[in-house]
Amino acid sequence: MKNFTRLFKFILVFSALTFIQCSDEEKTKSNSTAASVTDPNEVATLSNFISKSLNIELSKISFQKAKNNFVIDGDAFISLKDAREHYTNSNSNNTGKTAQRKSPFTMTPGYSSTIQIYVSPDVPNDWKTAINQAIINWNNINSNITVSSVNSPTPTSINIQIYFDSATSVIAFANFPDANGNSGNSITINTYYNSLSATQKTFAITHEMGHNFGFTHTDNSTSSELIPCTPTSDPNSVMNAVVSNWINFSPYDNIAISTLYPLGLNTKKLYRYTKGISNLYTTDPCEKGSGDGQFNFNGDICYLYSSALPGTVPLYRIYKTNISDYNYYTSTSPSSNRIEGYLYPTQQPGTTPLYSYETMDAKLWRQYREIAYHQEFSIINRDAVGLNKKILGYVIVK
Ligand SMILES: [Zn+2]
Repeated sequence: MKNFTRLFKFILVFSALTFIQCSDEEKTKSNSTAASVTDPNEVATLSNFISKSLNIELSKISFQKAKNNFVIDGDAFISLKDAREHYTNSNSNNTGKTAQRKSPFTMTPGYSSTIQIYVSPDVPNDWKTAINQAIINWNNINSNITVSSVNSPTPTSINIQIYFDSATSVIAFANFPDANGNSGNSITINTYYNSLSATQKTFAITHEMGHNFGFTHTDNSTSSELIPCTPTSDPNSVMNAVVSNWINFSPYDNIAISTLYPLGLNTKKLYRYTKGISNLYTTDPCEKGSGDGQFNFNGDICYLYSSALPGTVPLYRIYKTNISDYNYYTSTSPSSNRIEGYLYPTQQPGTTPLYSYETMDAKLWRQYREIAYHQEFSIINRDAVGLNKKILGYVIVK
């Protein structure tokens, strides 16, 4: 996470490599068992491995001998120990396909749903506020990522600490998940940047946690492979390298996070797009992306099962030309209709009802069909005008 003003100044004076230097005053707790190097050949081998794995050019990776860390693209790092383990893993299986916006090092579902954050007592209060907000941000994105605070470090917690370095544009840095699929275990905040606004601090911490969870820089132009259905650039992404004001995850952030960390195994998110009073629901984020000029991205509803599990039924989508809108059914439907996913016709443990409503456009006297899970409609007075309210089935939602 970088500061733009500093970045700009430094570009004029130093080479880009200046930005990835870190202060010797850093108090990062070593997460390795002091595995010392350093055979230059091993450093070169691991640097090349990281470069290929992350699809990041070699010049953006440097080895910090004093800390036994590989620093990557400014503010993310991998410890020597983790690099060795990732390298060993890569030789034993070939599943590490690279992609932009995510590293090949990601969390396993067991870890992503039980992430713990420990904050060192000397972290300034303004940053603690930002950390708390970042935790809320990640918990609210409706994915398998679930974060909680702990009062003391645990073997798998993300430990947040501070250091001071006035000679760098780096606001904070963080490491990627380890070879066991646990989150990265540290975020280090440069208190030289204490004057950042509250929303910038929230952006920075939400961004660094993204690295801990396996996401790389959205605006890393050297990367060529993408998380499916995300673009090569996204000015609103929280995973861009330069700090901005936190507003929310961008639509493509939502898609990237939900694709990488769906709420349950064999599930896919049901996204909502709006065009006036009309809604479109889809489990295919490629269909409309962040919006297509007519339909605007409007968040998400729930998760559907990706394939037919025993006891589930399909959720069909059909375009009704007489009302120029989409309808959704679980009853037997012509084969030309699209299946968005599968859901249970009866309530199962951990599932939530998915309702179907019809709403009336009084001016045009046309009926529109919408769906949403019940918590949402309970706060919208459309509930009062909803017609033919019924339960389509039972789904999972965070
Ligand atoms: Zn970063």
